[in-house]
Amino acid sequence: MEMLIGGRWSKAASGFMEDVISPYDGATVGQVPVAGMADVEAAMAAAQVGAATWRATPAHERMRILMRAADLADERASELARTITSECGKTITEATGEAKRSGDIIRLSAFEGAHLYGDTLPLDANRGTGLDKIGFTIRQPCGVVVAISPFNYPALLVMHKLGPALAAGNAVVLKPAGKTPLTALALAACFVDAGLPDNVLSVLTGPGGVLGDALVRDPRARKVSFTGSTATGERITRVAGVKRLSLELGASCPVVVLRDADIELAASAVAAGGYVNAGQVCISVQRVIVHPAINKDFLDALVPKVEAIRTGDPFSPGTNMGTLISTGEAERVRSAITRAVAEGGRLLTGGERDGATVAPTVVAGVDPRSPFSQDELFGPAVAVSTAEDWSTALAQANGTGYGLGAGIFTNDVSGVVRAVREIDAGNIHINWTPLWRADLMPYGGLKGSGIGKEGPRSAVAEMTEIKTVVLHGRPW
Ligand code: NAP
Repeated sequence: MEMLIGGRWSKAASGFMEDVISPYDGATVGQVPVAGMADVEAAMAAAQVGAATWRATPAHERMRILMRAADLADERASELARTITSECGKTITEATGEAKRSGDIIRLSAFEGAHLYGDTLPLDANRGTGLDKIGFTIRQPCGVVVAISPFNYPALLVMHKLGPALAAGNAVVLKPAGKTPLTALALAACFVDAGLPDNVLSVLTGPGGVLGDALVRDPRARKVSFTGSTATGERITRVAGVKRLSLELGASCPVVVLRDADIELAASAVAAGGYVNAGQVCISVQRVIVHPAINKDFLDALVPKVEAIRTGDPFSPGTNMGTLISTGEAERVRSAITRAVAEGGRLLTGGERDGATVAPTVVAGVDPRSPFSQDELFGPAVAVSTAEDWSTALAQANGTGYGLGAGIFTNDVSGVVRAVREIDAGNIHINWTPLWRADLMPYGGLKGSGIGKEGPRSAVAEMTEIKTVVLHGRPW
């Protein structure tokens, strides 16, 4: 397959290609170009031209092209789902759900791109200013957006960047994850085939460190929209210079289960929220903090549900949980589980690895200060700890460097109000786990989990800039 430079399908200037590998069986599922510095230069030069073209295109015309791209994404959803499963290892059921959201994210974005409203400014309320002046704000696209996406949701997280960036009138250079480039290229084809003008969109495939640094550093980029690990996000803040940054980073999301909680509901939700996409979700349930009085009942309800999760061929409709992205990642997760048990955790189920698959795991009695709670696991295991009261539970929930999502199970309204005020997380779910997202909602973390919000309305706002205009009349 070729990559996209300035809207044209292209090989790498070097001619080098690399294989894309299925994490399930090691099969080669495609080949993509290995972009280098000449390709970065070509894409950024094209984007500068494309940004001028697209900014001068009326919003209704941008919307028309995006709506056509959305229809193409819908038509191609089944094929897209197969590509996701092949290169990413998630189940075909999960991949189908993900692929089917693509068209709607484009539609939601197109709508927001047609609503670039400004404000009128009551300048006369400022002492010394009269009615002879009129002030207002207008929004304009940032210009060139560099978008960098991770492997775990290769369609969804690409769409949450391309949709808003294009809807807002920007040119985009996308660097998708090295392990999942085929999905990104297939999505880009929807925009190209819908009639996106030349130069507006590029997708560069190749090594993240080299391409990422060059793109992020490039002064022609006005905005960097990044989703990935906190370590890479921190590097971006050091390399970027004066640019607008949106960073959607790592997490270790807590769920608090209080004494009065519906235990069955909490156990069912955790048995889903800890294991979707083999736990490789930034909003995956990593830590469960349970009141000691119900801890045994909760674990008795949870463990059989986790044991019922079937692993295997991700293309089989009977498989509930697919592989991790690679055997190396699976081994990292397995060894983190082994260490948690060596440090005193009780392994209630799971813990084994077979190739890139890690069995769904529950470890109880985990010390909330241990690495198994503190560090992002990004794998199919849940750590259960206990907390006697609200204050202890809230301190544990807040007790990591992250702040992306949190869930609370209780019927105590005043406790919920306190938790909503005191938990430092970008998304808080009452009587559900953090693993829930409607594409239109603002979505993004606090603390080490990032800067800014995605979701079409928020992303369009962050991918546009405000200009303040003052009309100076004369006093009459
Ligand atoms: P990653 O290793 O940080 O990679 C993310 C992207 O950055 C990839 O495209 C990667 O390219 C690229 N990259 C690598 N080095 C770079 C550099 N120096 N400059 C710029 N870009 C660079 O993350 P991942 O392992 O793909 O994804 C998992 C992480 O993403 C987890 O921490 C997860 O929590 C986070 N995540 C966060 C959210 C959220 O909304 N907060 C959502 C999903 C995932 P290569 O793949 O070619 O190396």
